[in-house]
Amino acid sequence: MNEATLLSKGYRKYEGENIDVYFNIDICQHSGNCVRGDNEVFDTERKPWIIPLKDHFQQIQDVINTCPSGALKYKLKDSDEILP
Ligand code: SF4
Repeated sequence: MNEATLLSKGYRKYEGENIDVYFNIDICQHSGNCVRGDNEVFDTERKPWIIPLKDHFQQIQDVINTCPSGALKYKLKDSDEILP
């Protein structure tokens, strides 16, 4: 899947310096893994609620890999591959 497909499916993009994050609220199961995993990047009290902080590069990937619904995706800046 590429970014255009993801956006056409209703994902929103949250751009960072070294990683971009995508989120689709219609798919989210509200498990809270993201907020518990990194509450500086994922904060539902804030707008935007996702800020892909540069120095959280690895943690963002680790947290998104625990999202049970597929509502969160990411793309490294030097790649076109959408993960996971
Ligand atoms: S981990 Fe995924 S399913 Fe759970 S609240 Fe976050 S985005 Fe939603």
